[in-house]
Amino acid sequence: MQQEQQDLEHIIGTAIMDDRYGLSLADESIYSYLGVKVVSMLTAHIHPDDRKLFVDTVNDVHENEEKFVLIRLKNFTEQYANVIVFIKRNEIDPEKFYDLSIYDIVYLVQKYNNLNEAHKKVTMAMQLMSPVSVFDYNMKTGRIMVMNTRDEVSFEGPIDVLYNTMVENAMIDKMHISGVHKLVDAIKKGTSNISSVFNMKVSSKLKKLSPMTIRTSVLYDKNTSAASYVVGVVLPEEEESIGTAEKLYSDRSNLDPLTGLYNKAAIKEMAIDALTNATQTINYVMLDLDHFKEVNDTYGHMFGDEVILNVARIIKDVVGKRGFVGRVGGDEFFIVLKGIGDDLDALRPVLRSLRSQIEWAYKGKLGNIRLTPSIGCASYPKDAENYDDLFKLADRCLYIAKTKGRNRFIIYTPSMHGSLEDIKAADNSIKMERALSDIQRLEFVSDAVTRLCDWKTSVINPVLKDMLKYFGANELAVYEIASGKAIYYSDPALDTEEENICSHFDEFKTVFRETNIFAYGDSINLKVPYPDFYEYMQKAEYFSFVAYSIKNKGDITHLAVAYRKGAYEKWSDMTLNMLSILFKTIGDKIIEETNR
Ligand code: GH3
Ligand code: MG
Repeated sequence: MQQEQQDLEHIIGTAIMDDRYGLSLADESIYSYLGVKVVSMLTAHIHPDDRKLFVDTVNDVHENEEKFVLIRLKNFTEQYANVIVFIKRNEIDPEKFYDLSIYDIVYLVQKYNNLNEAHKKVTMAMQLMSPVSVFDYNMKTGRIMVMNTRDEVSFEGPIDVLYNTMVENAMIDKMHISGVHKLVDAIKKGTSNISSVFNMKVSSKLKKLSPMTIRTSVLYDKNTSAASYVVGVVLPEEEESIGTAEKLYSDRSNLDPLTGLYNKAAIKEMAIDALTNATQTINYVMLDLDHFKEVNDTYGHMFGDEVILNVARIIKDVVGKRGFVGRVGGDEFFIVLKGIGDDLDALRPVLRSLRSQIEWAYKGKLGNIRLTPSIGCASYPKDAENYDDLFKLADRCLYIAKTKGRNRFIIYTPSMHGSLEDIKAADNSIKMERALSDIQRLEFVSDAVTRLCDWKTSVINPVLKDMLKYFGANELAVYEIASGKAIYYSDPALDTEEENICSHFDEFKTVFRETNIFAYGDSINLKVPYPDFYEYMQKAEYFSFVAYSIKNKGDITHLAVAYRKGAYEKWSDMTLNMLSILFKTIGDKIIEETNR
């Protein structure tokens, strides 16, 4: 009952919608969320890119079925916020009406949190959304704690002191000072679900102000139902808010600090600019290094950075004056090629040269790892009319290159790769699937952490078992290094193994010096650095694995491991984040019990 009451606090509202997407009956809270008095077409409030998805989902809901869709809805602050809409056909008139329930997405991450563990868990879950900082404000004491993503506290004290410090150090754009002041007042009052954008700095050390979204959520005391904590995240604002092209480009703030190439926002602006002013064909290229994580895992992040820098130089040399290059993610690059025209015979040698020069740069120098790129390319105006579509096509071709075995380039050809419409539809459904499964996994993580906090070590085995289906693992275990035994496991057979990962711990233990987590997508890469360990993993058919070191007073005492048997598994950053949270919580419980 209490939980239900708490859930209701985070629902934006319910409504009945007709088959023309007009709201015929809706909670007052929906109107106030949207900041309007009437809603003639709900679709008008949905982000243009999400409208088709919403309409398709609505049309796809059958009687006695409930579907849900993740969309961006414009709220009273004129910002798009992610919401989940649950859709059912209306019982009384299923032909013409739909019942909608709209939830703020933050609701989902805090659904399972109660006040006792509130700070720790909500901030942990929210960190998965990759904010720059998270904070929580205690309404009783008036104090706020701000943490950066490394869990370091950057401020702890009265909220007014934080506000004054930010004003005094010019960390807030003058134009936004009164807005931030209002936000501070709202936080003090415990107002829920605020989302505002301010031009600000999150650290006085930063040189430039930049647009940041601040989102808050309120946690209610289970017993008194009173608002008790306001938790929030500070996220970099979406690129949409970046200003006109002219003020960009050569400025330092548009450059990627590692490579000096343009950053994601700048290269996107430049591409749009190039399309707008195009007098001839623009080729848009996406390049991603293959299995780059293994370079990092084997040789360390610093060496990985060096490789990225070197690859950036190669790309820049190949492209030369024919276009611009940007680095948009760890090992991903965008290239806007201007001077090539629409002749494929001119385009192919450029892409071939990118591929082969990168391959040759490290050939035979990285043990078993082959450093190669996968490349996707599409052309304007032949293939797409605007940037978004061009992006989707190039992205699709990159994906095809990856799935076809990597180390190749794919130039978009509708007859081979499908029409733009088909690709867009597929893209939407993939996006949905991923977003929802991440949310479901997030819910699981939140729930599992709650169980572990409440019930201690006795739930570790059941939690490990439940983890199997969320993380693409076939076996999970926690080993005690001193005894060399699996002390918790998803499968009791692991407990009796003579030889296990602990038998080889001495071989690879130094990998944990830099990080707590050690992930191999393809254990073939163990072969050179840790031959005996590799042999054992082969024998046990562990193709991929993630190992997490649990430390007691600085020494590694336990290993938590997720194994994938018989198949290569790509451990995404999101998965690794979630595994880290779960393994850390499990480790904390074990250490707590050991030291008792
Ligand atoms: P794939 O062939 O599917 O592309 O596999 P991959 O291992 O290259 O995976 P993916 O492209 O998804 O991930 C890129 C990896 O790059 C993830 C992260 O470990 C690493 N990375 C991200 N940013 C940096 C960085 O700044 N420096 C270094 N050294 N590594 C980075
Ligand atoms: Mg890659």
